[in-house]
Amino acid sequence: MCSSDLIIFRPEYRKKCIANHCGRYNRSWSCPPAIGDPELIIAAIWKYSRGIMIQAISPLEDPYDLESMDQGRKQIQDLTQALNENLRQTGQAFALFDAGSCTICPVCTYPTEPCRFPERMLIAMESLGIDVADLAKNAGMRYYNGPSTITYFALVLFGADHV
Ligand code: SF4
Repeated sequence: MCSSDLIIFRPEYRKKCIANHCGRYNRSWSCPPAIGDPELIIAAIWKYSRGIMIQAISPLEDPYDLESMDQGRKQIQDLTQALNENLRQTGQAFALFDAGSCTICPVCTYPTEPCRFPERMLIAMESLGIDVADLAKNAGMRYYNGPSTITYFALVLFGADHV
């Protein structure tokens, strides 16, 4: 559990999206520039007072163990999708952010057709410039969990009781 005040935004991080090291810039509805003006999303984030940061740690056989990395990423995305489904059923306001670009569909419809599952599509924290490492530290979690591991994070915000 953490206070939303612990979230640190670093606008310079958004330049990493534009640099497109992950290959998803301008390729998905869940990524820039399709997500629109990040400042509008950040303004909406400040409506929420509290959050829970979720961590999934996966063991790696070696630093190039892409299969385990993919499994770890799928693990946290399955978790966030289950959480998304449950929270939507409560009817309460919340915001949920994932680790990385949306992978729900094998091929994203962007930009020719609308998103197939807008209610399931989640935006990555990094695309907003959230400093995930600092947020993890502020929330009392380890960002790095050893040389034979990879750690993914997701963030759910709730308690829309301050403006
Ligand atoms: S749900 Fe499908 S269409 Fe929508 S952003 Fe994700 S991959 Fe793209």
